[in-house]
Amino acid sequence: MEKVQNYINGELIDPVGGAWLDNDEPATGQVFAQVPQSDKRDLDLAVAAAEKAFETWSTVPIAERVRTLNRLADLCDQHAEQLVELESKDNGKPRWLARAVDIPRVGANLRFFTSLAETWSTEAFAMHDGFNLTLRQPIGVVATISPWNLPLYLFSWKVAPALAVGNCVIGKPSEVTPMTAHYFSKLCIEAGLPPGVLNVLHGDGASIGDAITEHEGIKVVSFTGGTATGRKIAAKVAPTFKKYSLELGGKNPNVIFADCDYENMMETTLRSSFANQGQICLCGSRIYVEEGLYDRFRDDFVGRAAKLKVGDPNEDDTKLGAVVSRQHHEKILNCLEIAKSEGGKILCGGGAASVNGRCEKGYFIQPTVIEGLPLNCQTNQTEIFGPVVTIEKFKTMDEVADLANGTPYGLSASVWTSDLETGHRLAAKIQSGVVWINCWLVRDLRTPFGGMKESGLGREGGLDSFRFFTETKNVCVKY
Ligand code: NAD
Repeated sequence: MEKVQNYINGELIDPVGGAWLDNDEPATGQVFAQVPQSDKRDLDLAVAAAEKAFETWSTVPIAERVRTLNRLADLCDQHAEQLVELESKDNGKPRWLARAVDIPRVGANLRFFTSLAETWSTEAFAMHDGFNLTLRQPIGVVATISPWNLPLYLFSWKVAPALAVGNCVIGKPSEVTPMTAHYFSKLCIEAGLPPGVLNVLHGDGASIGDAITEHEGIKVVSFTGGTATGRKIAAKVAPTFKKYSLELGGKNPNVIFADCDYENMMETTLRSSFANQGQICLCGSRIYVEEGLYDRFRDDFVGRAAKLKVGDPNEDDTKLGAVVSRQHHEKILNCLEIAKSEGGKILCGGGAASVNGRCEKGYFIQPTVIEGLPLNCQTNQTEIFGPVVTIEKFKTMDEVADLANGTPYGLSASVWTSDLETGHRLAAKIQSGVVWINCWLVRDLRTPFGGMKESGLGREGGLDSFRFFTETKNVCVKY
């Protein structure tokens, strides 16, 4: 049985309270690791270590911070295959996907933010009789709380900018996928990250998550996860005026006009529907197709979706691995029953998938396409976060804009058309933080990323991350 440990003050240690959680492999249903169920006592140790480390880390020359973090990035690249294996085993995603997407982004996140930190400048405002200099200073001890769908990718996406601008961090990965953050902790030690600069605490939301949002020593909370959790966190941090950002759930529309580049749209729409078993916050789960193309799209899409191989994440030709946990598997199956009871016509999938051999007890779901559901049903209003999409036809841009905007969410949208004017007109109407035209999940790390409405508050990426993780101070000099 593997044992995950907390990383506090530069050391790997067991939780003070001696409580542990089981961690299973979603592809087999077998428990393979024990995870600390940390609590306030572990957090107090971590915050004390981070406060002490902050005195030095926030004041060393930027070049020194950059050297250390780039050393860590190099180690992540050198240990990529071990991280790939752990991420896939822990999360259920195909290994090839972890190798192509998740793990390369860890080193890339670190290097992107170190290089941005080296060239970052702040503003100056000249007056006729003096000038203003705007300082952006590290805040102190900041916390990051991240989810299980892209475990180390999102963990490092938050930790990298926070550290690069001189904060010290309490990082809480999801208790459902703790393995790569644990491995990352070991790489931090090897990279020579000074003790206390990053502390990694494992455990669930009720135990260590709550302790983090309540702790007086923590000045900032950067959260990515579900909308219901985000709402709780916002309420928790309000009385102590912590700065916070929320990256939350989505119910993203994918709008397809008849004049689109069909093959590119079809290939990308299969990915945006089913990649990572549909467990990417940016997956398009409501597909709207212009009337003239609808029948052709439906038949082709359903035919191709039904052929996607659901299988052992270790096999290279597996397109969908396991969903992350038994609990999540049950949740998705329940959503499918609701879709059926709402009158949805299941065009393919619609239930659990069985995979033989070592995976026969794993948590697999068939790629599912549903037709004939109105906008205002539960299936089209709530995030399922699985390989499940609904399809519907539309006639006009105004109609599809209303459909796209007709949920409480506003994270991302895709629009497919060869008429860029149509694409831009619709992009301007859509209420979401990100709109992709003729593509999906194309990420430039300099761009603002985040959601509107119940999909979040604040933006990450590029200088938005640096502004979030610093305190702004204007210094005014009068001649
Ligand atoms: P979750 O909200 O259950 O958990 C996310 C993290 O919050 C975990 O580390 C969890 O332990 C912690 N947590 C839970 N309760 C807490 C509490 N009361 N206080 C503090 N921390 C608490 O989400 P999940 O199931 O891990 O992830 C899936 C969700 O994340 C989906 O809704 C998905 O859309 C969303 N997500 C959003 C983005 C984005 O960028 N907008 C990216 C990835 C995932």
